Amino acid sequence: MTPPAPQSEQPVPPHVSSNGPSRRGFMKLSALAVAAAAAPATASHHAELDPDRKGVLVDMTLCVGCRRCEWACADANDNPHGELHEYDDASVFDRPRRPTATQLTVVNRTPGQPEPIHLKLQCMHCEKPACVSACLVGAMRKQPDGPVTYDASRCIGCRYCMVACPFEVLGYEYERALTPRVRKCSLCRERTRDGELPACVKICPVEALTYGPRAQLIATARERIAARPDRYIDRIYGEHEAGGTSWLYIAGRPFEELGLPRLGTRSPADSSESVQHGIFRGFAAPLLLGGLLGVIHNVTRHEHEHTHEKGADS
Ligand code: SF4
Ligand code: SF4
Ligand code: SF4
Repeated sequence: MTPPAPQSEQPVPPHVSSNGPSRRGFMKLSALAVAAAAAPATASHHAELDPDRKGVLVDMTLCVGCRRCEWACADANDNPHGELHEYDDASVFDRPRRPTATQLTVVNRTPGQPEPIHLKLQCMHCEKPACVSACLVGAMRKQPDGPVTYDASRCIGCRYCMVACPFEVLGYEYERALTPRVRKCSLCRERTRDGELPACVKICPVEALTYGPRAQLIATARERIAARPDRYIDRIYGEHEAGGTSWLYIAGRPFEELGLPRLGTRSPADSSESVQHGIFRGFAAPLLLGGLLGVIHNVTRHEHEHTHEKGADS
């Protein structure tokens, strides 16, 4: 298996280096610290979740890799996307891709399998998201109905959400000099509020994607697995990984073989938040903030190292 491109191949935030924050980065961290210090000491941007919160079930045994979902996502989000027929070009599967600022979802083909297996990637809309915990100005928020939303007007561009995310699915508008944004799948919140399906779900020609209440999706997944044990492995990816996610996957092969990270059941947010609250109970100084961000980074890195170690073992 060729794993997805590691985060280290993506552009590194300019104020982060192995030697610590640069001078420019220090200014940003100071601004971050001021904003954080102004926040309530026990502020949490995690929501009480609705029992009928929504998600999407991906049935990887049905996906044919047509990439119509990529086109529809780009179209719905005003990203460049060309003509639909251009997505028939299979050479795109020659190398694994990650979501970017202009491609909020990508479909990869897993190498080394007897039959082609395709993996759609996008923000997983975690139940307790690490990106939300990493963002001390509240630009990332978990909404009670499922989506993790991003508010560009609050964002100060520190990009620690990108470091914290265990799925490496956030893009950043490096090319936009004055008003760069973090970009990610929104779970098509605007569309679903109006009673429409997410654009990717709507266009999928083989119904590999199902939108609905997360609890119902898990029940549907269990039914499919029970009905066809020859077709599916007995596991729903995202039911528990990283504390649970709104996007859920079922497949015929172990998910780690197919390009999804091996993660524990605990959200990385749990570790970073306990440190965060400890700091704010005392005094929110910029240097302590640096320590917090280091913890977030280390928690996430540890998860990835664990993944690669386990992946190498299996
Ligand atoms: S997948 Fe990453 S960006 Fe999306 S909610 Fe989870 S931690 Fe945040
Ligand atoms: S839910 Fe919407 S934003 Fe997310 S991948 Fe699908 S089309 Fe794109
Ligand atoms: S549109 Fe459906 S079948 Fe086509 S790549 Fe996307 S999820 Fe797979």
